[in-house]
Amino acid sequence: MDPIGSVATRMAQIQARIATITGTASPIVTNSAGSFATAYASALSTASVSGQLTADGVPTSLVAYGNGKVPATALKQVGTTGHRLWAPAAGSLENLISAASRDGVRIGITDSYRSYAEQVDLANRKGLYSQGGLAAKPGTSDHGWGMAVDLDLDSKALTWMRANAARFGFVENTPRESWHWVFEPAG
Ligand SMILES: [Zn+2]
Repeated sequence: MDPIGSVATRMAQIQARIATITGTASPIVTNSAGSFATAYASALSTASVSGQLTADGVPTSLVAYGNGKVPATALKQVGTTGHRLWAPAAGSLENLISAASRDGVRIGITDSYRSYAEQVDLANRKGLYSQGGLAAKPGTSDHGWGMAVDLDLDSKALTWMRANAARFGFVENTPRESWHWVFEPAG
C-alpha cells in the first residue's frame, strides 16, 4: 500500500471509531462537557482578574484614564451588542448571557460604560441617588469604569440573575435598581 493510501485507510478507521464512541456516549459527554465548560469559563473569568483592581476597587488598567474618561479602545464590546465594558466584565457578561440563554432566559442590555458627560446628563434628568434619584454623582459611578451594566430583565430573568449572576462575578448592589449589576470579581 502506498503511504497516502495507508494514512487514508487509518483515518477512515479512526473516524469510524470516533463515530462509534460519540454515537453511544454523546448524551453524557455533551452534558458533562457543557457544565464543565460553563464552570471553567466562570472560574476563569473571575480568577483571571485577581489583583487587577486597585485598593479602591477600580480596574488597574483603566485607573489612569479616570472615571468616565476611558476611551472606547480600552474597553471591550459585549458580543455584538455595541455595549462596552472593562474587558474582564465584558467577557464574563458574555458567558453569563450564554448560560442564561441555555436556560431559556433572555437578558438584554440597556446601558454599560457611561462617560462623565453622560453621567452629568443622567444626574440632571434622573436626580442624584443620594437625593432619592437614580444617578450616582458624576465621577463616582461604576458605569464610569465599565464595571456596571444596566440590564433589561423580566421577572424570570431577574430570578435567574439572583440565582446565577454571582457565579460570573456580577452582584446586585444598589437598592431600588434591580436592573443595575456590577462586576466585582473575587480576589
Ligand atoms: Zn446602572
